[in-house]
Amino acid sequence: MALFQIAEPGLSAAPHEHRLAVGIDLGTTNSLAATVKSGEPVVLADEAGRQLLPSVVRYLKDGSVETGWDALAHAESDPRNTVYSAKRLLARGRSELKTLPVLPYEIVDAPGGVAIRTVQGDKSPVEVSAEILKTLAKRAETQLGGELTGAVITVPAYFDDAQRQATKDAGKIAGLEVKRIINEPTAAALAYGVDKESSQKIMVYDLGGGTFDVSLLKLSRGVFEVLGTGGNAALGGDDFDHAVVDWAVSQLGSVELTAEDRRQLLDRAKAAKEALTDTPETVLKLELSSGTHAFTLTRVIFDQLTKSLVDETLEAVANVLRDAKLEKDQIKGVVLVGGSTRMPCVRREVEAYFGFAPLTGIDPDCVVAVGAAMQANKLAGNAAEGEDWLLLDVTPLSLGIETMGGLVEKIIPRNSPIPVARAQDFTTFRDGQTAMAVHVVQGEREVVDACRSLARFELRGIPPMAAGAARIRVTFQVDADVLLSVSAREMTSGAEASIVVKPSYGLTDEEIVRMLQEGNSSAEADMQARKLREEQVEAKRLLESTASALTQDGDLLSPEEQSEIDRLARAVGSAINGTDADMIHKAVEALSKGTEAFAERRMDRSIRAALAGRSVNDALFDEKPSGS
Ligand code: ADP
Ligand code: MG
Repeated sequence: MALFQIAEPGLSAAPHEHRLAVGIDLGTTNSLAATVKSGEPVVLADEAGRQLLPSVVRYLKDGSVETGWDALAHAESDPRNTVYSAKRLLARGRSELKTLPVLPYEIVDAPGGVAIRTVQGDKSPVEVSAEILKTLAKRAETQLGGELTGAVITVPAYFDDAQRQATKDAGKIAGLEVKRIINEPTAAALAYGVDKESSQKIMVYDLGGGTFDVSLLKLSRGVFEVLGTGGNAALGGDDFDHAVVDWAVSQLGSVELTAEDRRQLLDRAKAAKEALTDTPETVLKLELSSGTHAFTLTRVIFDQLTKSLVDETLEAVANVLRDAKLEKDQIKGVVLVGGSTRMPCVRREVEAYFGFAPLTGIDPDCVVAVGAAMQANKLAGNAAEGEDWLLLDVTPLSLGIETMGGLVEKIIPRNSPIPVARAQDFTTFRDGQTAMAVHVVQGEREVVDACRSLARFELRGIPPMAAGAARIRVTFQVDADVLLSVSAREMTSGAEASIVVKPSYGLTDEEIVRMLQEGNSSAEADMQARKLREEQVEAKRLLESTASALTQDGDLLSPEEQSEIDRLARAVGSAINGTDADMIHKAVEALSKGTEAFAERRMDRSIRAALAGRSVNDALFDEKPSGS
């Protein structure tokens, strides 16, 4: 007899049930969503066939919101209300934004973070991100034809707890059940199936539009650790565009360029760069205010122009290796991510550096979303037998508490696989001390001031003892969702205090609840409006068909019957202009019920007519309302 199989709670679906789950790559420039269908990852495209959704949100005066390509189209005409790069603002205070490029919208201080001032009021980066996620969730639900059970969203490996929590909140506001937040490089590595190997070190090279990220991953027994991260937040495909612009300007000689000329030049330079990925040479054609120009740009020249940029990326790779005290021959795989890794010069130089070809089989734009989708599929319980590995994520930064002198005692070191719990004993500093302040911090530095403060709480009720005699056990626990709980317990008295760490970036629970409620209540209003419209349409249809039936076959009714139907029809007619969908529905039901006998008599008549040579179809359907 076969044994009963018992699934881990929440991990397994019934055999035929496929739970819809998506992976979302919430990018700085572009975002996209993928899912796993019949075991194969599929990237979801919009109606126009476009997979990428620009991570841009526009707030309009009339209260509506545009996202993606529609919003992007207004970036120049409505810069103050068109928000891009919100990801760079997530869980960041104003002082932390100094290193960012200038953004054309107004950034104001908000409790603990920043907000963007729009015609629709101040919007937090979390709310902006939620709009993008909402668009992708809707795309998924429309295409997959059902409700999503869960999502996995990716974040850069260097995101701290607050930024991860902010991303998770954005998902929640978008109505998603965020099963897990995972690292972008980890997702990319998963997409290539590197998890199936036993133990190895992988380098993920992600060159996007404006940023370059390197992550060094170690994989052993299904656990991914981030051994190191690096890169350059101000180096990306845009810099390659600028190199082409500079070259074109030197070709032009002493031609004066207007602002419009410069914009066109940048567009054409970018197009030329992308063309050179597929062809060895391309023509850069310019229609400038001073006249028309055309220059041939070869890949050989392009590679020379951009060599220093590619070299810079490889220096960052070398730095990450050096920090991790590894040699490049200890790296067993290199995964390329980001649109700019399509450039042949990048692929060639990366290969030359490591001495083997990087993994490139998956579209570098999609690879992160694909890996996230695979993880989401497993978390939803759709995995095939023997394929039910789960990614164990790790804490991105160390967690600890402040000790005397403003120092930090680390309790959970960074890169600990989660879930994890660790305890450490502390003691009192003063004779007779009856309370202790616990200050929870995150970061790698030894002094409190250089770390991020996460929470503070107090343990009271310590029995008075000599300094150093009390034994206070502090326990840190990080659950699978990277949420931290901290408790402190005095061992002799059992006095205890604890806290679940609230992210310190400003969104209070109340605010999240409010935003969730706003989302829900407008969803409710949308549904009401839709129901009303549907009832109105149905009522109108019934009124028209009743009227036409009366014209044709009114002679089948007695005067009393006729006036009863008229009364019921008037009731529908008066309800239809109101806003009470239920009232319309009731009136419609009464009218259809009140006309049942009439309909039967008409049926009899039409059958008799058919027998007399007329077609049943003519007789039955010639009262169909026209034009609806
Ligand atoms: P991000 O991660 O910053 O959101 P992406 O990964 O989407 O950015 O990469 C965008 C960059 O990729 C842009 O600079 C774009 O010009 C570049 N890119 C896209 N396609 C190609 C191509 N075929 N050849 C060269 N560069 C490309
Ligand atoms: Mg990217």
